Amino acid sequence: MQINESIIRSVVAQVLAEVQRGGVNGAPVAGKSFAGRNGVFTCPDEAVKAARDAFEQLQERTIEDRKRVIDHIRRISIDSCVELGTMEMHETKIGRLEHKIEKLKTLGEKTPGVEFMRSEVFSGDHGLAVIEHAPFGVIGAITPVTHSLPTITGNAVSMLASGNTVVVNPHPSGKKVAAEGVKRFNRAIHQDLGIDNLICVIAEPTLESANAIFGHRGINMICVTGGPAVARAALKSGKRAVVAGPGNPPVVIDETADLDNAARCIIQGGSYDNNLLCIAEKEVFVVASVFDRMMEAMERAGAVRLNAREIETLTKNAITQVGEGEHKHDAPSKDFLGQDAAVLAKGAGKSISDKVELIFGETDLDNPFVPVEQMMPFVPFVRCRDVDEAISRAKEAEHGFRHTSLIHSHNVRNMTKMGRIMDTTLFVKNGPCMASLGLGGEGYLSFSIAGPTGEGVTTPLTFTRERRCSLIDDLCILGRR
Ligand code: NAD
Repeated sequence: MQINESIIRSVVAQVLAEVQRGGVNGAPVAGKSFAGRNGVFTCPDEAVKAARDAFEQLQERTIEDRKRVIDHIRRISIDSCVELGTMEMHETKIGRLEHKIEKLKTLGEKTPGVEFMRSEVFSGDHGLAVIEHAPFGVIGAITPVTHSLPTITGNAVSMLASGNTVVVNPHPSGKKVAAEGVKRFNRAIHQDLGIDNLICVIAEPTLESANAIFGHRGINMICVTGGPAVARAALKSGKRAVVAGPGNPPVVIDETADLDNAARCIIQGGSYDNNLLCIAEKEVFVVASVFDRMMEAMERAGAVRLNAREIETLTKNAITQVGEGEHKHDAPSKDFLGQDAAVLAKGAGKSISDKVELIFGETDLDNPFVPVEQMMPFVPFVRCRDVDEAISRAKEAEHGFRHTSLIHSHNVRNMTKMGRIMDTTLFVKNGPCMASLGLGGEGYLSFSIAGPTGEGVTTPLTFTRERRCSLIDDLCILGRR
């Protein structure tokens, strides 16, 4: 009988884990092993210790083993995308089921893995220097409710590919699917490779547990994906931080644009997962000479137009004020954030088909849907005198986040001008927002786009430290004999 090598490894790993743990079904003994927990913890300190232990074990393994670890994450994300995506939808209650499912599948398939790791070489008269990219160690990650398990999946693949381990403090409204996904990833990895807790998650996340992770001596690096508050907190943590912060992506449409293509792209990007993507089209500035034709193109492409009265009703219902005193500001109402276009239309006093993906309408600049990162499938269109006004309005609406901006144009000068003025991490021309992440455009995918700290679309290399190894006067085999 032929015995499968992975079964032997798995049995040996389980036996070793039990021995280390101090007995079958025993609770982990402090200072020994957390194997068998499958990455799910309530105590941040235990999670960090378990991730540290896992990091040390991963250090002993080959790159090929890292690839095997990642293959398990990919397989589970792809094979269980319907089950886990449905779980995420039921728990978070925002977005669209088909896209919850698709996001897990896409991240499983496309997140850059070990193939992104590379070294650089300087070779010359004085020998050879090799620059390699080493892991930081244990990373503390904070993930958003808009993509709870998808962000963990993408972060885990990138971070593990470069040899790190991770402790995640998920958004409390997406904690169950986060824990379930993490448990499944670790269980499969543990069974195959004998290492548990490469990805740890806090099952009952709070601001206190986030702060405990930020301040923990065992955490070597932080990666946060979220809005302004968490971005600020990470930057204050005193640790090396990769900050994937908020956006409010504006779209400019000039007189040379292919209006039907622009309409299709805005609907595709702006309605995806009910506009929960941080890169999604959130407000549109159109030059006056093509404004009316653009509105018609939107209707032709299947979006439903609201009139001024309906927009006013929707704004009253869907935008609320939060904060106190000078911090008081407009924000999306929880009842409408991430809801279907039909729900928003109802909030505007209009009945539309459940099949409609996006609603839209003309607003002035002062309508809160323009400056607020609304995360709803209603996109405001603002009429502008010319492209210069449109670009300058876009700049204002983006608030200097330098996250994502888009233009529909065939005028290279206008594209160049907008690219320079906006200075955003992602700048998309003539496509939907997701094209900038390699989905219908060139490039690669990540759900953590680090604008404020400058790493851009994160990859395994984002989570590395450079190390240089120099050999003096030898192994440069070119030239002098
Ligand atoms: P959020 O800011 O409310 O929460 C994000 C995470 O941060 C959650 O886990 C939350 O619990 C935590 N958090 C919030 N305040 C904190 C604090 N003071 N200290 C520690 N942790 C804190 O955002 P959300 O609603 O979950 O997600 C949507 C936001 O995330 C949007 O602003 C969107 O643009 C942004 N986002 C950015 C990217 C990117 O790649 N740049 C990707 C996805 C989402």
